[in-house]
Amino acid sequence: MTNIDFSRIDQVLDGYYPQMERDLMGLLACPSVKAEPAGEGAPFGRGVADALEYALAMSSTLGFQANNVDGYAGYADLPGETEEQIGILAHLDVVPADAKDWDSDPFSPVIVDGKIVARGTLDDKGPLVAAMYGALALADCGIKMNKTVRFIMGCDEESGMSCMTHYLSKYAPPACSFSPDAEFPLIVAEKGVAHYSLSKSWDACQASPCLLSLKSGSVANVVPGEALAELCWPAEKALPELPADISAELAEGKLSVKAVGHAAHASMPEDGENALMKLVRFLNTLELQGGGADFLRSMGALYDDDRYGAGLGIAEETDKGRLTSVPSVLNLDEKGAVLLGDIRFLYEHTEDEIHAMLEKAVAPHGLILGDWLAQNPLYLGEEHPLAQKLLGVYREFTGDMTPPLMIGGGTYAKTFPNCLAFGPEKLGEPNLVHQPNEFITQDNFRELAKIYARAIYALAK
Ligand SMILES: [Zn+2]
Repeated sequence: MTNIDFSRIDQVLDGYYPQMERDLMGLLACPSVKAEPAGEGAPFGRGVADALEYALAMSSTLGFQANNVDGYAGYADLPGETEEQIGILAHLDVVPADAKDWDSDPFSPVIVDGKIVARGTLDDKGPLVAAMYGALALADCGIKMNKTVRFIMGCDEESGMSCMTHYLSKYAPPACSFSPDAEFPLIVAEKGVAHYSLSKSWDACQASPCLLSLKSGSVANVVPGEALAELCWPAEKALPELPADISAELAEGKLSVKAVGHAAHASMPEDGENALMKLVRFLNTLELQGGGADFLRSMGALYDDDRYGAGLGIAEETDKGRLTSVPSVLNLDEKGAVLLGDIRFLYEHTEDEIHAMLEKAVAPHGLILGDWLAQNPLYLGEEHPLAQKLLGVYREFTGDMTPPLMIGGGTYAKTFPNCLAFGPEKLGEPNLVHQPNEFITQDNFRELAKIYARAIYALAK
């Protein structure tokens, strides 16, 4: 088979549109936020298990051969002439959504002004449904493909990817795959990600003024938007002058100091303002006593650059991107502190090398590098045959010649060999992934199915 007439495929997809939208709305109504295990087949809670069962039932109705992989993941096959597989890797779990920040209930999808609004529309339920209908349209038009198309639906993408570890413990990965879970035109490289802890203990300080506590942040992959410290402050001592974004309140010999910044994803620290470091820099001007003050001075030296890792000696920038490093969570009390940080590193280095560099930087300060959870970078590059095929599909369909991208985030592409993230977001378009009022436009949803039909054909023919 050489070329096929895609206008026929597009027509079939236009005909399917109302059904495709209904299927998506049903899937969006499953509140698939990770929760405590809820019995057999629900290792990530009832909401996620419901979404998996819904997606598998939908796949069967569409004629795919569907299977539940112990509640961790599921797959749906469109058999080809051979058993060699191409994979489409999407996830059914979503990040939490606080209803009070939304204009409508995040798990009661609505259509407003041509937008389908609900948690998961873009990340990642919409792309999954669109790709499935893309494959269905190929089959409907009688196009027999050489390879078997396998949709792999994971249930734990947003927090740990144990879904794919479980899947790969039972099945071999497809020969090549794409994951519709990032941006167009195509992601050809993903930075390595490391989350770590630094800790130190000391004896409680008897002198004054000294630091009693400092708390900031809750998860390692977010630039903290707020930081709060409590100081023991002598009654006769004048209050310090306060810079912008810092407030203080004195009550019963204790000075509470608060810094306000701007939260952002740690992979894009330039979008945020680190409140923790704002507070540390201010406190370092106050000549505080004790172990807590020593710890803050170490932080001041190591994280003077709170975005790109200069103080840690790991800064690196190439034409492909820039390493990012964010101190994100601090829990400090009178006797010690634990700091969590996030590093996104370039493919010139392995996680072992970054670990060694970090250890060397913090050792002179008496800090202990403890927890370490890291993934090596992914780099396939634009010349890779898989990249060439997917980029070709996108460029032919849209006429957009934007070069492929390197991102700081991690997708399923890191967990499978020969896999790249392809769509669904478009550069320059507003996107509310992980934010309130997440949506996909009906036009984009319809178009996605057409692009993914072409991508599936290009890989499976
Ligand atoms: Zn996603």
